[in-house]
Amino acid sequence: MVSRVIPVDPFDLVIFGGTGDLARRKILPALFRRFVAGQIPDGSSIVGAARSEIDDAEYKSLVKDALREFHPGDLPEDMLSGFLNILHYVQVDATGDQGWDALAKLARPDVVRAFYFSVGPSLFGALAERLHHHGLVDPETRIVVEKPFGRDLETARALNTSLAAHFEECQIYRIDHYLGKETVQNLMAIRFGNMLFEPLWNSQYVDHIQITVAETVGVQGRGEYYDRSGAMRDMVQNHLMQLLCLIAMEPPAKFDPDAVRDEKLKVIRALDPVEPADLVRGQYLADGDRAGYLEDAEDPASKTESFAAMKVHVSNWRWAGTPFYLRTGKRLKARASEIAVVFKETPHSIFDEDAGRHRNTLSIRLQPNEGIDLDVTIKEPGPGGMRLIDVPLDMTFSEALGPESEASADAYERLIMDVIRGNQTLFMRGDEVEAAWAWTDPIIQGWETRGDRPEPYETGSSGPEDALALMHRDGRRWREIRE
Ligand code: NAP
Repeated sequence: MVSRVIPVDPFDLVIFGGTGDLARRKILPALFRRFVAGQIPDGSSIVGAARSEIDDAEYKSLVKDALREFHPGDLPEDMLSGFLNILHYVQVDATGDQGWDALAKLARPDVVRAFYFSVGPSLFGALAERLHHHGLVDPETRIVVEKPFGRDLETARALNTSLAAHFEECQIYRIDHYLGKETVQNLMAIRFGNMLFEPLWNSQYVDHIQITVAETVGVQGRGEYYDRSGAMRDMVQNHLMQLLCLIAMEPPAKFDPDAVRDEKLKVIRALDPVEPADLVRGQYLADGDRAGYLEDAEDPASKTESFAAMKVHVSNWRWAGTPFYLRTGKRLKARASEIAVVFKETPHSIFDEDAGRHRNTLSIRLQPNEGIDLDVTIKEPGPGGMRLIDVPLDMTFSEALGPESEASADAYERLIMDVIRGNQTLFMRGDEVEAAWAWTDPIIQGWETRGDRPEPYETGSSGPEDALALMHRDGRRWREIRE
């Protein structure tokens, strides 16, 4: 399949924190892949900005090393020098005045200027203010901000206010890389581009929905950050909530940023508070040489959760009575993220008992092997009566569309190019983020007030026993976590 690359005009992208982990692991490799795909036009430039005292040549060498380490697959060395030619470095302190004049010379006013805040959130306000003060903001200027966007409603509001002092909402791109995944966008194509699913997409036909984001890694190396966050803040408030919104939202009138985000916001506002009995938290145990959460977190008494599961109700006409089960955790049995829409059984079976009762499930795999499966019930082949089995109609993108198709583009590639194009559809709006915190805060506060210790779970398992019980008591089962 021939990939289609949509051209953009030349642009200048400044990465504050251009020497940091996120820039080296995700942002720069994503930009390099877009360069290789021919989507970064001549006349564009990429500027790394940080406090480190290095020059252009040293920065290029740092980026080269990062690409060698983090570029997926073989590095096309012949493209490297062309990419390095458009790179620059400026030594800038977000909280001081050094370097801003040099930056103003590199980020030109006659092209789209995008500033990626790949630094800690405590610097967002200072950066916004200095960009403004040094004349780097015009109506075409965009800023990109990373999670965590606050740690509760109050801090998220304060961040929004500090950015709004210098930027319009249409200039602020709050990134959630889950929204950049091909399958997530395909979820909207499946729902709103087909006649097949939308008529069934409601509590009359959907038994329940499961959203799982499972990781096999622990928090090693990030223990200090993670221990102040936990699964609820780090994953549920942003990634899982965004996925839930896309599943549950009403059809927007248009595929346009505000129409989509208005509908997502309505979903968040329709979420019921979660009963304590419908919430489970866990902490992974040590396994052989691998430390348990309490050692990784460095606080032997930490009550931060490395796993969270919950039953959530969307209180509106469409979803009344259909629960959404969410779970996410570290050190689980496989690295797998999926959304499963489990339909109800047929109201009556015309087959005898041997045929069994079956359900259709639409599963949307986010990682690995992005793709969509639809389990359809058919007759088991062969003689011997009518027995029913479920077979998947499988659409694995790399198989259906070819490994080199644009479907294989990483979420960061797609989202960064959306910033350049000025398309905010896949970015969170300020009011969405605040509404998500307003729902999340009471859950976290309830945990803190009760002071319960998270339930330990085995490394390599599906999580704590209570998470299994959460489904069992409703007569349902979690889907197997598998790659
Ligand atoms: P990091 O490795 O600590 O890098 C921070 C970067 O900011 C460095 O380039 C640092 O360079 C620069 N910096 C620090 N203070 C500065 C200042 N006063 N002025 C200018 N530059 C300054 O952090 P990271 O992991 O890349 O994370 C960056 C942001 O992305 C954070 O908000 C993080 O929460 C978020 N994030 C990261 C990941 C990830 O996978 N790493 C994932 C999601 C979100 P100098 O010290 O040379 O100034």
